[in-house]
Amino acid sequence: MGTEGKDIKQPKPLPAPNSDFYEFAETLPAEELAIVKKVRAYMETKVAPIINKYWAEDSFPFELLPSFKELNIAGLGLEGYGCPGGSPLLVGLVAMEMARTDTSMATFWGVHTGLAMESIYLVGTEEQKQKWLPPMARMEKIGCFALTEPLVGSGTAGGLTTTAKREGDTWVLNGQKRWIGNAPWCDISIVWARDVDDNQVKAFIVENKTTPGFSVEKIQNKIALKVVQNGQITLKDVRVPDENRLQGGKGSFRDTALVLRGTRHGSAWEATGLQMGAYENALKYAQERLQFGKPIGSFQLVQELLAKMLANIVACQCMVARSVQLETEGKLNDAQAALAKAFCTSKARETVSWARELLGGNGIVVDYNVARFFADAEAIYSYEGTYQMQNLIIGKAITGFSAFV
Ligand SMILES: Cc1cc2nc3c(=O)[nH]c(=O)nc-3n(C[C@H](O)[C@H](O)[C@H](O)COP(=O)(O)OP(=O)(O)OC[C@H]3O[C@@H](n4cnc5c(N)ncnc54)[C@H](O)[C@@H]3O)c2cc1C
Repeated sequence: MGTEGKDIKQPKPLPAPNSDFYEFAETLPAEELAIVKKVRAYMETKVAPIINKYWAEDSFPFELLPSFKELNIAGLGLEGYGCPGGSPLLVGLVAMEMARTDTSMATFWGVHTGLAMESIYLVGTEEQKQKWLPPMARMEKIGCFALTEPLVGSGTAGGLTTTAKREGDTWVLNGQKRWIGNAPWCDISIVWARDVDDNQVKAFIVENKTTPGFSVEKIQNKIALKVVQNGQITLKDVRVPDENRLQGGKGSFRDTALVLRGTRHGSAWEATGLQMGAYENALKYAQERLQFGKPIGSFQLVQELLAKMLANIVACQCMVARSVQLETEGKLNDAQAALAKAFCTSKARETVSWARELLGGNGIVVDYNVARFFADAEAIYSYEGTYQMQNLIIGKAITGFSAFV
């Protein structure tokens, strides 16, 4: 029988996956929302199509750098010195947005802008900021942050073994640094070393490519954040002029802690974005994948998994949104930043494991994206201070007792 003249009932279009369920981005002023949308479009059109290949190959997509520079987000949140400025909420949402497509790219950006540039911004003198920040904002010089050592990770506050010895107007650095993101190819390292004279930790700007005694080996065979190039740095009688010592802070580990407070909070945003990416990919898969003749998304147990993922995401979004309000008011303390980092990264592990489960066998194949989020969650759970270290910071603040050692 023909259908001419009859109304054919079209199936209702399925809802598009949307992990901004409580409309956080809408709380931004229009000009900042436009920046988040620009980053989203960039990540979806330029990064998403190629990133799995780079992830599988353990390599960094240098082909993206020219267009990445045009986003003008290096130094986001920093005022002056050629930096684009912007509110703490914007910085967080951009980190979240990048991680929603790829956490390695968010980390590459976070290391350059949050760790390296912010060290100079927070601990440098006016002259040092004038000299180093503009080329870093233009991404002519890319930075890294060298704190962790092969034998000292969680215990950096009291145990750094890399030494700095002053000889007149020069400092001589010796030691090794491990896990340093961007180090195998970037231009500038912020190296944290213990001054042998006063036993305090100080930061030095070292030019990677031109400083004798500075060498980097790429860390091979990682299973997470494979696009980020991590390096093991060796400093052998590296001579740095005193003008490259960051001199605008306290000249102690309190400077390091100041930088880490902000970036720890940044990893909470990344962990939130990573969950959003895993959830959206899993939801799309659930809408398309048929079993027993029906989309798996129509099964109650699958819907429960998706609802639990979304609840984790919204809980993390609420937490980072409130902590960014505290940050904007200059009130965010170490324990609050630590709680956000610990909670969001642990929820990320849970969310990605549900997403992986929902994809069945395809959940362990990188081509379906979820496997990449699944693996990358492991790295952000440990970097910027492990889950245990964050909880010790929180524990000390709430009980009054330090349980670090
Ligand atoms: C992908 C990636 C990127 C990184 N990028 C950088 C970077 O750019 N720059 C940089 O400086 N560092 C970087 N790091 C290093 C990172 O910050 C460290 O890995 C982290 O601080 C943990 O140190 P560790 O790996 O030496 O582990 P360890 O300190 O050896 O810890 C091992 C385990 O022991 C636990 N533990 C240690 N002490 C205690 C305690 N007192 N109580 C209870 N449990 C404890 C830890 O929680 C952990 O579970 C990166 C790491 C990774 C994985």
